[in-house]
Amino acid sequence: MARKHDRVLIVGAGPVGAIAALLLARAGIPVTVLEREKGIVPDYRASTFHPPTLDLLEACGATDAMVRMGLIAPVMQYRDRREGRIAEFDLSLLKDDTRHPYRLQCEQFKLVGWAYEELRKIPGVQLCFGHEVSDVAVTEDGVQVTAMTGAGPVSLGGDFLIGTDGGRSTVRKTLGIAFDGFTYPEHFLVAGTRFDFKSAMPDICSVNYTADPVEWYLLLEIPDMWRIVTPVDLGREPDEAVQEKQIQASLQNLLPRAEPYEIVVKAIYRVSQRVAGSYRRGRAFLAGDAAHINNPLGGMGLNGGLHDALNLTDRLIRVWHGAAEVSLLDGYEAQRKPEAVNAINAITARNKKLLEERDPQVRRRNLAEWRRIAADRSLAYEHLLQTSMIASLRRSGMLG
Ligand SMILES: Cc1cc2nc3c(=O)[nH]c(=O)nc-3n(C[C@H](O)[C@H](O)[C@H](O)COP(=O)(O)OP(=O)(O)OC[C@H]3O[C@@H](n4cnc5c(N)ncnc54)[C@H](O)[C@@H]3O)c2cc1C
Repeated sequence: MARKHDRVLIVGAGPVGAIAALLLARAGIPVTVLEREKGIVPDYRASTFHPPTLDLLEACGATDAMVRMGLIAPVMQYRDRREGRIAEFDLSLLKDDTRHPYRLQCEQFKLVGWAYEELRKIPGVQLCFGHEVSDVAVTEDGVQVTAMTGAGPVSLGGDFLIGTDGGRSTVRKTLGIAFDGFTYPEHFLVAGTRFDFKSAMPDICSVNYTADPVEWYLLLEIPDMWRIVTPVDLGREPDEAVQEKQIQASLQNLLPRAEPYEIVVKAIYRVSQRVAGSYRRGRAFLAGDAAHINNPLGGMGLNGGLHDALNLTDRLIRVWHGAAEVSLLDGYEAQRKPEAVNAINAITARNKKLLEERDPQVRRRNLAEWRRIAADRSLAYEHLLQTSMIASLRRSGMLG
């Protein structure tokens, strides 16, 4: 394949862009990574990595690094705020399907930091921080981007481009690609505390989804901290919701204590379910949140984005080195987009509905169904195949 620039451009060095860059660079492809920020930004979004993601990232070393930095969570629970534990799922049921039969709890910015360090060791990699891409042009034989820097605009060329610049992707907008779906009316609050919930709630595990018609919550253990994700009351302004008093109220509602909680992390997010109309315009591709966004209930957004990066870079590497025809790139959208629609968005939307259900009769039915699935080994196994994303990756041909 003729190459004009001998380089792939990656716009956005969050976890998906950083891993895509690393996979390409390790395969001998020169990459230029353009990142708006000046360096790593602590990001309190993803912390859950699923078993097949760990399997697929093993070869590049990311899995070992995350296991070192993270916390292994072999069990997950569905709970009800009033009734307590409803169902428990042990991921060791998946031991014949994965080399990592557990969820790994590790903040996404730690993966990003590790990937930046690895990229810095590879000759030919240009890591350009403080470069905010404002325009993208795709031609027959290449791509051209304009990026704003502290020293003014710069223009860079590449043979291919991967837009991994998140949910508000400039690449996607510049290429005129629709992002259909919806945004939830309520914000989601994330708060982290060093209080050890297991000391006061001995029957919980490290990953707990708790249903409640008023204030459902997700309670997650990560190294050195517990994290709660919960909706913000619609009548409350986001600025007010992240104030200490409100977060204390949410935590006290979860577990009343005489002492206030030590809050070490707080953030608020707008959450949507959207999928890009197309994942590609000629030589430019979208991956990660730039291509699909979803609510965090199920921990699938970043995992799905990493699956995009693995799928796309594998194709690009083969085409780049002449081991496959350019038409191999057509399969990327064909394999990945249906999974964003039918698995990632469908499962996360269903999870939210289950947790927030207000109708008492439907709630009772939901809880009974969770109990039924957990009590039956083959139903529990099937449930875990879906929620761990193994089923999705098998459907899209990425796992045997
Ligand atoms: C509360 C919460 C919890 C979550 N928990 C999980 C979880 O446990 N597991 C999971 O799988 N997913 C989770 N997610 C989703 C996950 O955080 C995202 O899917 C993930 O961050 C997407 O990674 P990304 O690299 O595609 O995009 P981002 O992380 O958004 O990174 C985009 C990067 O592009 C840069 N950028 C943006 N615009 C430009 C530009 N114009 N020029 C140059 N650079 C640019 C940004 O600075 C950023 O570094 C959660 C989300 C939320 C809100």
